[in-house]
Amino acid sequence: MDLAIAGKWALVCGASKGLGFGCAKALVDNGVNVVINARRPEVLDEAAKLLIDVAGAAAQRDGFAAAKVIAIACDITTVEGREAVFSADGGPGKNFDIVVTNAGGPPPGDFRDWDRDAWIKAVDGNMLTPIELIKATVDGMAGRGFGRIINITSSAVKAPIDILGLSNGARSGLTGFVAGLARSGIAAKGVTVNNILPGKFATDRLEGNMKVAAEKSGKDMDTVRQAQQAVVPAKRFGHPDEFGALCAFLCGQHAGYITGQNLLIDGGMYTGTF
Ligand code: NAP
Repeated sequence: MDLAIAGKWALVCGASKGLGFGCAKALVDNGVNVVINARRPEVLDEAAKLLIDVAGAAAQRDGFAAAKVIAIACDITTVEGREAVFSADGGPGKNFDIVVTNAGGPPPGDFRDWDRDAWIKAVDGNMLTPIELIKATVDGMAGRGFGRIINITSSAVKAPIDILGLSNGARSGLTGFVAGLARSGIAAKGVTVNNILPGKFATDRLEGNMKVAAEKSGKDMDTVRQAQQAVVPAKRFGHPDEFGALCAFLCGQHAGYITGQNLLIDGGMYTGTF
């Protein structure tokens, strides 16, 4: 399916690996120019090299110009980090057509151990940073008549996980904000905003969470991994490419009537009817 977005510009945050990288890869494969970011330059540069290869292969296959890939190493949760991506050399400034927000997730733990600073950090990374990125780009999108905003949140928004209290809380704030924004004037101007809610995906983040679970329970990693896969009806973890494919579809021209949604991608793990 031609998503008809070749040549557009996307900002993909937290994109050196995991789900963010999956989104950047799927967008580049559809001819979308990307500014990617993450904090560690060496990991980000490796990711950029892989994306440039994907862009070249896609251009040859589909006959469009190879997507440009710009890598900016910075912490997207800071004012300076956001300024750096918006002033990237060769980038579109704030005139992005697509914004994928993501900044890693807050650490797991027990809420009794979290102080105000821990909460502020979680709210900053998982609620206020996406809102700042949207604020900087959404009116430009509306003015140009096309825009796609995707927030990577978590299945924990729909089915909270006790040890992820910081994530449950901060992301619910973003979800409420997005629900209102999506139904505001931007909807009539070609701008959609949706959240994608991952279940269990094979990334370093999931490995880290499983390590905590293993330490807490005294079980080895293989036992924990098998137990976690067993609770997923698909009996496996998701692949970041599967996540990226959904993200790219929502960013495409065919998805213009999907807005304000929270789309679970979890191998069937959420047990509710709706
Ligand atoms: P991951 O594999 O750990 O990747 C996180 C990416 O974000 C890396 O590129 C990381 O690079 C970057 N990053 C982290 N903090 C950043 C910051 N402050 N500024 C810029 N970049 C930053 O994680 P993931 O599994 O892809 O998870 C992505 C999101 O989905 C997270 O919010 C996570 O909580 C959520 N999620 C994941 C799962 C899952 O099963 N994987 C399930 C539910 C929710 P640097 O460290 O170099 O900055």
